[in-house]
Amino acid sequence: MVVNVWEQKLLYTRHLKGSPVGSRCSDQMVHNDLPHTSIIMCFVDEVWSTLIRSVFSVLNRSPPHLVKEIILVDDSSTKAYLKENLDNFMKKFPKVRILHLKERHGLIRARLAGANMATGDVLTFLDSHVECNVGWLEPLLEQVRINRKKVSCPVIEVINDKDMSYMTVDNFQRGIFTWPMNFGWKPIPTEELKKHKITDKDPIRCPVMAGGLFSIDRKYFYELGTYDPGLDVWGGENMEISFKVWMCGGEIEIIPCSRVGHIFRNDNPYSFPKDRVKTVERNLARVAEVWLDEYKELFYGHGYHLLQELNNIGDLTEQKELRKRLQCKSFQWYIDHVYPDLDAPPARAQGRVKNIALGKCLSLRNSSVSLESCDAGVQNQQFNFTWLRLIRQKDLCISPADVKNQVTVSPCDNLNGDLRWLHKSLTTFQPVLTDHFVVENSKQPMCLEAETSHGLVQINVCSPTNQLQKWRFDKYFTP
Ligand code: UDP
Ligand code: MN
Repeated sequence: MVVNVWEQKLLYTRHLKGSPVGSRCSDQMVHNDLPHTSIIMCFVDEVWSTLIRSVFSVLNRSPPHLVKEIILVDDSSTKAYLKENLDNFMKKFPKVRILHLKERHGLIRARLAGANMATGDVLTFLDSHVECNVGWLEPLLEQVRINRKKVSCPVIEVINDKDMSYMTVDNFQRGIFTWPMNFGWKPIPTEELKKHKITDKDPIRCPVMAGGLFSIDRKYFYELGTYDPGLDVWGGENMEISFKVWMCGGEIEIIPCSRVGHIFRNDNPYSFPKDRVKTVERNLARVAEVWLDEYKELFYGHGYHLLQELNNIGDLTEQKELRKRLQCKSFQWYIDHVYPDLDAPPARAQGRVKNIALGKCLSLRNSSVSLESCDAGVQNQQFNFTWLRLIRQKDLCISPADVKNQVTVSPCDNLNGDLRWLHKSLTTFQPVLTDHFVVENSKQPMCLEAETSHGLVQINVCSPTNQLQKWRFDKYFTP
């Protein structure tokens, strides 16, 4: 049976005024047997008033029978007021349970510690500086009630950190990422809205979630293997859980009728045990290695330095086994079905590689490189200039030989900088893919050059005017 649980809405119109939530959300029906939830809020050195405000907004604006408990996980805060003082204060609120972690776990492992003591049917994760709005919880739980593999997120609205003013945000925004896995928002194109007749109360399918605020069926969270516990402190965990949910049979949606304000701050009010940027990059490299399949080249191709993280990302055996055990789909499937507008070309450039002076093309036969008459139908002339700047045909890459001025073919290895080429002009500083192939790991600039007499190629000191050193791929995917 479905009932209207929005009667209370008129009591709290402050945040709904002028908001896209409007009256239509108050007409929304939900089941009267919704699962209950444990709210999990992790914090480290949170400001007292914002923490209390977060907890009160949950207590005041959620149907009591749907909130099994509120678990506050103190991630080893340094502020004294967050210890006994907080325990004593919260004694008046029997639903609030507090876990003081003895050492800093970082957001990801702190959430897991909270989840481990949760008893609700659903886990609802929130940041410790939020303000839940009227009717925020029911539509989130409704989705999980409809399908336990639905992970639902509220619309995150903006609370100003200077004056606590509340700003509503536009509907129809999807959570997306751009390379190298930066989270962002992207509006659904108007044509799509029209085509699918999407109204402002329909759930919005999101390729990735923002990360801080969402509800997930508790058992399902564990079936998915929770978060990768090898992720450190903060960052990248939203990518991990998003890929995992989609590729392993679930869905992520933003529920427009659920609105939660979040205080956005420029600085974290806590310290990072290690360098912040490094921590996030390491986490992202872990995610890339487990989930991105062949697309991880795109990730590393958008920041070589990310490759350095490979040395210290830790053991991934368990995460890879989990993916196998859950029979998760490929990243290609994810792109095709969940994020078709992801910008993900297969390489920087592709096709035949034609020498400008001779009009002949590179060819790879019996593991050696030569020049032949160009022929689009010949597989031996098809190369990729990969995201990691290898000139590649299947598993083989064209590279400088140990012998001076000679070119050889070696098994491709993304970690081997000796195989990399810069494809660029020697006369302009514009970063465009064109003309020369310059050996990346060389003190003196050395270039790939066609040799005229035997149909071979060699490496020679770069010369901006030498046409024998200029090459062109059939097709370029990036400038
Ligand atoms: N947090 C934590 N331990 C950490 C880092 C963060 O418990 O090591 C908490 C933090 O207090 C907040 C939540 O995790 O409640 C998300 O962090 P934050 O708000 O800084 O992330 P943002 O909203 O900026 O993405
Ligand atoms: Mn936050």
